[in-house]
Amino acid sequence: MDPAELLALDARHVWHPYGPMPGRVAPLLVTGASGVRLRLADGRELIDGMSSWWAAIHGYRHPVLDAALAEQAGRMSHVMFGGLTHEPAIRLATKLAELTPPGLEHVFLCDSGSVSVEVAVKMCLQYWRSLGRGEKRRMLTWRGGYHGDTFHPMSVCDPDGGMHSLWRGVLPEQVFVPEPPAGFGAPLNPSYVDTLAQAIEEHADELACVIVEPVVQGAGGMRFHAPGYLRVLRELTERHDVLLVFDEIATGFGRTGRLFAAEHAEVTPDVLCLGKALTGGYLSMAAALCTPRVADGISRGEVPVLAHGPTFMGNPLTSAVANASIDLLLSQDWRGSVRRIESALRDGLAAAREVPGVADVRVLGAIGVVQLDHEVDMAAATKVATDCGVWLRPFRDLVYAMPPFVCTDAEVRTIAEAMTAVAAAA
Ligand code: PMP
Repeated sequence: MDPAELLALDARHVWHPYGPMPGRVAPLLVTGASGVRLRLADGRELIDGMSSWWAAIHGYRHPVLDAALAEQAGRMSHVMFGGLTHEPAIRLATKLAELTPPGLEHVFLCDSGSVSVEVAVKMCLQYWRSLGRGEKRRMLTWRGGYHGDTFHPMSVCDPDGGMHSLWRGVLPEQVFVPEPPAGFGAPLNPSYVDTLAQAIEEHADELACVIVEPVVQGAGGMRFHAPGYLRVLRELTERHDVLLVFDEIATGFGRTGRLFAAEHAEVTPDVLCLGKALTGGYLSMAAALCTPRVADGISRGEVPVLAHGPTFMGNPLTSAVANASIDLLLSQDWRGSVRRIESALRDGLAAAREVPGVADVRVLGAIGVVQLDHEVDMAAATKVATDCGVWLRPFRDLVYAMPPFVCTDAEVRTIAEAMTAVAAAA
């Protein structure tokens, strides 16, 4: 079909994420993607600085992932998971239990990050109900977070953020504490530790869990914090009989320089959520893992089953690609790649610090952030970035990138130049 015709139909019929209807914003038409490049209908090629929202760590059309998908398609498409099981899902669950922090044994495979957070919440709620502590049903989180767009995840997103303030009054009311002081390398702030301790102690009797994004708060503001706060949370939740959930949907699979961000603190949460890069960004899949303590608790309940069962649970095609993506990651010097990208981002973004209106520049692992002292106009920013040959998706006052791990240094430099150009033009 002709590109103009396709875009007209898109504008008429297709919702995009957080998009107005009918199409008042014009998306770019992608006709192909390979390596780290998106190919547009008008012939331009853009380096994908976003990894399709943290997911495409190996880039696009990777021969290993393509082959895994084709091979599994030749064996079996989706089959229901109730009462049936299969090798791709068994292998995946086993791999995840082995790779994630020690003690996370039981794996619930589901379709999207938001659903894995819903499942994590259900695990915690059911656990306390089973133990006769049904009053423990609230969650505590820090401000500035993002956990997804379904209702429980939205209830623990930043309450003042633009994304979910619309739902005030409808969402379950959770307990919010300020986000940790900024800086991955910052020393622990004793008065902030006291704030956490007081909030958890005060609300312990009604708290099912504390849920946080470890080390990096993503879509709520792209903030980094010291891993030590995770150890503080682990200690406090144990002391006050509260479960701890880590949402590693964005940070999982190497993005921060460790396979999982929890490893920076050597902490095992009671429940861990994964998604995005789990399949190398090929297909939609997420997982919620829990410890035997949580699973045993649920099994002792009046309803001794985890009350969740999505149609596409454990999809064999998706599981096969996830297995291939994880094996591919582990077969390479991925730590070296992330370190290389980190240093290329640091070098490349040095110039951004001098740009008027830039409030902060920060880099951690394969994540680079330029924070402005004002909001970015998204349409104008997209034009500047695409003119530099790069795909970026700034929001609010943030120009950020998380490149595929297979980007060359020159490609990372181009991404950093585009970020700097967007900041200078904003
Ligand atoms: N948690 C975090 C930390 C995320 O970054 C996201 C996605 N941006 C989600 C949850 C929701 O995942 P999904 O979009 O796959 O539902």
